[in-house]
Amino acid sequence: MSRLAIFVLCFTIVNCAEDVGWFWHVTDFHYDFSYWTDQLSCNDVVTSPGIFGDYWCDSPWLLIKDSIEGMKGIKSKVDFVLWTGDNIAHIKDENLTLEMNIDSINNITNELKRNFPGIKVYATLGNHDYLPNNQFPPTTNEIYNQIGDMWKDWIGETAQVNQFKTSAYYSLKTVHGLRILGLNTNLYYTSNKVTPNVTDPAGQFQWLDQQLAAAKTNKEKVIITAHIPPGIHTPANIVWFYKQFNDKFLEVIDKHVDSGIIVGMYYGHDHSDGFKVYYNSKDEPAFPIHSAPSVTPWRYKIPEETGDPHNPGVKLVSYNRTTGEPLNIKMYYIDLPDSNSKNKTEWKLEYDFNDVYKTKDVGAASIDDLAKRMTKDRSLIQMYYKYKDVSAGNSGKCDTDCEESILCGFKYYKMSELENCKTTFTNASARVTSTSLIIEFVVTLVTLLITLRLR
Ligand SMILES: [Zn+2]
Ligand SMILES: [Zn+2]
Repeated sequence: MSRLAIFVLCFTIVNCAEDVGWFWHVTDFHYDFSYWTDQLSCNDVVTSPGIFGDYWCDSPWLLIKDSIEGMKGIKSKVDFVLWTGDNIAHIKDENLTLEMNIDSINNITNELKRNFPGIKVYATLGNHDYLPNNQFPPTTNEIYNQIGDMWKDWIGETAQVNQFKTSAYYSLKTVHGLRILGLNTNLYYTSNKVTPNVTDPAGQFQWLDQQLAAAKTNKEKVIITAHIPPGIHTPANIVWFYKQFNDKFLEVIDKHVDSGIIVGMYYGHDHSDGFKVYYNSKDEPAFPIHSAPSVTPWRYKIPEETGDPHNPGVKLVSYNRTTGEPLNIKMYYIDLPDSNSKNKTEWKLEYDFNDVYKTKDVGAASIDDLAKRMTKDRSLIQMYYKYKDVSAGNSGKCDTDCEESILCGFKYYKMSELENCKTTFTNASARVTSTSLIIEFVVTLVTLLITLRLR
């Protein structure tokens, strides 16, 4: 076959071999150095802790090491790794020091470098990585400085290392020409008491706007990655950003969404596996948002509520290197109790996205179509719900309200819009109920008349 024929074939066949690449998305390790001693992160008493961890606690070191080695064992030749933060355990500030936080992040950094030598890791910080917890400042500080130095091989460009040291965000280009914007969305988190009165913390909104404008001019495709996602975490219905920052973030994205340059967003923080779609001004699906579940199995517990258990998971994404469009996701996980009982882990495939959801890829149009199918076929939402907690046994617990929150959360990013969306479901079901009542009444009446005539 001539080179021209191969070239033509590459443009006519979607999965042209050299055009498809892979990347890992891993997040929320939450390393608990006290797991074998004081169990400072554990939300309940754990009398016989498993060697790979416990649902009530954050990760022992063995789980972190094992998960990174597990990723390497499954696929070591990837184009890059997205690592979206939260490396420090859910431990009170008084039991932590800045040095301890830096040490933990350094240990995980070294483990990733050892297992993925020469591979770029696009890393972002999570709200737990700062001390005091959550209080990310809009100015330079010791943590941004030290982490900037720690990650300088991965960031590569001196200007971007310096940018990171002042603000913990950066803009980089992959070897295949995709633009990666690594954001510091911890600045917008509702638990951050330093930033709510700042109009544009660390100038990130203005910078993001400029980066997206420049990408359009340079005809680049953009992947955005960060720890905390915008929009609504469903079915719990939590907006992680302060309202003014959520609105502003969406405003900046809306300004650029129609140009089609943003091809995907990847986040952590939710500790659950999930996806959403972002729509353009014509209400057409524009790009997908994918969230990876945490490595830590930690389940939260507050007086009013106890979170569900979940298994450690890591996400492998195949994508088109030229367009940046994600093509498929393979979720790998370990069954935590099973691994503990056998004293060894088996990182196995939890699901292949295109297989289980019957999609042709995991881009915006396919997720939009899937979301529409889910509205009619609620068994698909129950499957989504099971995978949300990485198959730790929640199947069938999502009631109608939960299902409708998830469905509305796929599309709506403001609480008022989500509530309106849920009302349309309620009205539709009320219409169905009243129609059924009318039909039932007519049938009863006709039956009665026939019975009377027959007498
Ligand atoms: Zn976390
Ligand atoms: Zn977080």
